[in-house]
Amino acid sequence: MRKSDRKQQDIAFLTDALLPGPYQCFLCDEEDLIGEDGLCDACRAKLKYCPEPTYLAPLDGLSVGLQYSEEISAAIIRFKKHEQREYARFFTQFLSVPEEWHADILVPVPMHPFRKWIRGYNHTELLAAYLSNAVNIPYSAKLLRKTKLGFEQKKITDPAERRRNMRGSFSADPLVKGLRIVLVDDVFTTGATAYECAKTLKQAGAAKVYLSAVTSPAH
Ligand SMILES: [Zn+2]
Repeated sequence: MRKSDRKQQDIAFLTDALLPGPYQCFLCDEEDLIGEDGLCDACRAKLKYCPEPTYLAPLDGLSVGLQYSEEISAAIIRFKKHEQREYARFFTQFLSVPEEWHADILVPVPMHPFRKWIRGYNHTELLAAYLSNAVNIPYSAKLLRKTKLGFEQKKITDPAERRRNMRGSFSADPLVKGLRIVLVDDVFTTGATAYECAKTLKQAGAAKVYLSAVTSPAH
């Protein structure tokens, strides 16, 4: 397939996917003329990107699409709490996988099976699926599992306590050995979850672990 054809296909995929109703913006719900990105002009003008987010080991790289805002936060809640799964397609456009990562596979940040059962879906799996389609890299939700229920991270404000809550929470499949893995998440907050995932994957032999997130209040 020629590169231009591939581009056309990607645009068609996004265009098709991003229109929730004929004219409704994903961030403000105003009925207005919206673009292929699913946004009205006013919301698009307010978006702030996040070009060089900082990160620590054991992560080998971090990509964050957008700076955090009230509008983005409200949209994330609609996506993960109110069953508005169409936001996966909308948010995927702000996820990226830099070429220099030479990624082998995308892995969504896992949710404990009990919470997934309660909610009915894991929103990061939806993001990974759409990102996989957009960047042509496979994804697997089976290589990393959350085995400890713990408390919900958002209810804990102290960073040290967040790290403790996550410790020993994940289990990695031995198949990750030697792989360059991109974790996919919606929000990078203090990094406690991402760092614990990366640590678990590295202990199981992963070569590199990166993280691609939609937004981060820390940047
Ligand atoms: Zn808007």
